[in-house]
Amino acid sequence: MIYLWNHNRRYNAFAPYFKELFGERVQKISVDAGFTCPNRDGTKGRGGCTYCNNNAFNPSYCHPEKPLEQQIKEGIAFHQVRYRRANKYLVYFQPYSNTYAPLERLKELYTTALKQPGVIGLVIGTRPDCVDREKLHYLGELAKEHYITIEYGLESIYDTTLERINRQHTYEESVQAIRLSKEYGLHVGAHFIFGLPGESREMMM
Ligand code: SF4
Repeated sequence: MIYLWNHNRRYNAFAPYFKELFGERVQKISVDAGFTCPNRDGTKGRGGCTYCNNNAFNPSYCHPEKPLEQQIKEGIAFHQVRYRRANKYLVYFQPYSNTYAPLERLKELYTTALKQPGVIGLVIGTRPDCVDREKLHYLGELAKEHYITIEYGLESIYDTTLERINRQHTYEESVQAIRLSKEYGLHVGAHFIFGLPGESREMMM
């Protein structure tokens, strides 16, 4: 069976999705721009979500002490050695909450990333309670010229689960953030964790 995404896999993985969209292989390059999170710095909570461990997925070249340009350059070299060659890149602001800073600081970081050779867009990971109209409007302006995705950590649609894992935001806040992001013309991604304590298979499906 051929699915809507033009192949027979039951899910549309990022690699074929990007290939279809851009006509060639596009590689995500993770960077650590030194953000924190309102659920760690005391604004909403301390210690974070019960499972929080951003080091678990940070590649070796990613260090917030290194300038962004250097991380991108090293990230491209890292992927050229390890995986198939790509000529276009999306800078992935990945660890912590990458919209949790004043707009001027965000502008500085995002425009620096977009100026690097081969970079055609951004993927920005954040919490649903770390965006507002001003920030999304700015991203919407960038999206007129570049590929911009905002990825929200939703984790669950159940407030009881969100409380249990100490997310410090509600499902309704997730819905509002997604609606607002679409209003500004952004691509939107959502991260879920399946199998969180207290959730049955029926709840997850
Ligand atoms: S929102 Fe992300 S960075 Fe913040 S505490 Fe939770 S898992 Fe950690």
